[in-house]
Amino acid sequence: MSFADLGLSDELLRAVAEAGYDTPTPIQKQAVPSVLMGRDLIGIAQTGTGKTAAFVLPMIDILGQGRSRARMPRSLILEPTRELAMQVSENFEKYGKHHKLNMALLIGGTNMADQIKKLEKGVDVLIATPGRLMDLFGRGKILLTGCNLLVIDEADRMLDMGFIPDIEEICSKLPANRQTLLFSATMPPPIKKLADKFLSNPKSIEVARPAQTNSLIDQRILRVSTAKKRDALADILRHGDVRTAIVFCNRKTTVRELATSLKRGGLSVGQIHGDMEQSERIKELERFKADEINILIASDVAARGLDIKGVSHVFNYDVPWHPDDYVHRIGRTGRAGKTGIAITLVTRADAEAIDNIQKLTSTKIPELDGGRAASAPSAGEAEADAGDEKPRRGRERRPRRSDKPAAREDRPKPDRAAARPERAPRRERRPEPDDNMSDEGWNGPVPSFLGQGFGS
Ligand code: AMP
Repeated sequence: MSFADLGLSDELLRAVAEAGYDTPTPIQKQAVPSVLMGRDLIGIAQTGTGKTAAFVLPMIDILGQGRSRARMPRSLILEPTRELAMQVSENFEKYGKHHKLNMALLIGGTNMADQIKKLEKGVDVLIATPGRLMDLFGRGKILLTGCNLLVIDEADRMLDMGFIPDIEEICSKLPANRQTLLFSATMPPPIKKLADKFLSNPKSIEVARPAQTNSLIDQRILRVSTAKKRDALADILRHGDVRTAIVFCNRKTTVRELATSLKRGGLSVGQIHGDMEQSERIKELERFKADEINILIASDVAARGLDIKGVSHVFNYDVPWHPDDYVHRIGRTGRAGKTGIAITLVTRADAEAIDNIQKLTSTKIPELDGGRAASAPSAGEAEADAGDEKPRRGRERRPRRSDKPAAREDRPKPDRAAARPERAPRRERRPEPDDNMSDEGWNGPVPSFLGQGFGS
């Protein structure tokens, strides 16, 4: 099946061909004809499946007919994050280049006056994060009564971020007979409830099992003690044939500290997290895309949907708390048919979290060092360790020379460690029993696997 078989206009087919795409992805094949027919749709699909084009393409043709009116957008796309909203707007520009459509992007952290000016002129497509939309709606700057097409993208992420009440309110302000498309990687009960309430006789499409990981991504676990995490990562980044990498951390403070430390160690590093101004976040992403930096330290703000070409490695510096986030994080590599490597640094305290990830993805993630310790410590072992505040006597020993971090400059300096702004939860602050063990986890050299130039 080709794009021409989907019922799209010639202008759109031209734009798709110019974008370099010749075959629709499974979700595009299934979604485009139904959306063109005006049906409601539930798409269970992760990013990377081509789901953005699956709704953007038919929308462009639908909106190609008719005209916009001041302050009354004709369609609305809700995105959980500013980055995703921007990415969708880039898709509209790419595919809508032969159409005359007006688009407005309503996201926090950008100039509201410019956004209002655009709305006053009349827009065909409004792409918004719920917070900013509600804000402008509350000021009477938008009327949603002419909005006949609504897209709720990344609904499960909206749920995680607490946006569902906003979305319910927004839905109730749109015409009842509108067309609604809802996309989500998973279908937890609150999303199912939302769909039941606001969609009418939707067609359901599921293109990949929820939480399925991409087979092009070589996933590995690197066992390491908490004290050596930073050095282990720095060493791999230096010597492990890493072209471009996104390094995920669970906390914004860890992002900041790690970025500072790696930069001081001479690596080409940027950072992105939710406390940064939108303009800074965009700047860092642009620097990464333009190869000015090749390592991006990130919080989960970058885990979903970001589509950056050719990311060779994803590192989980921290094991994510929610197993779903693991799938989203590693999905930043192995995109567009390329292979990728995803390495997760695992300490003893992470036993349960990594277990949950392996259960969710039905994958036994192999060890990076070739399988010395083939399995994650069991939850039972982890519990025993967690209750053991001091290192066990039998395991205590003096640090050896080989324990020295490969990169001295990456070692946290005592005064900096003391000045950490945020307190980590108790569980993470405990000294780990294996911190001084030589026979557990990473101990200096770059695992041979990484020197082989694996991946793209
Ligand atoms: P998405 O799931 O929307 O994040 O899309 C993932 C990536 O696939 C993006 O880089 C798109 O540009 C790309 N893409 C979308 N549709 C196609 C297609 N039919 N063929 C090849 N790549 C595509």
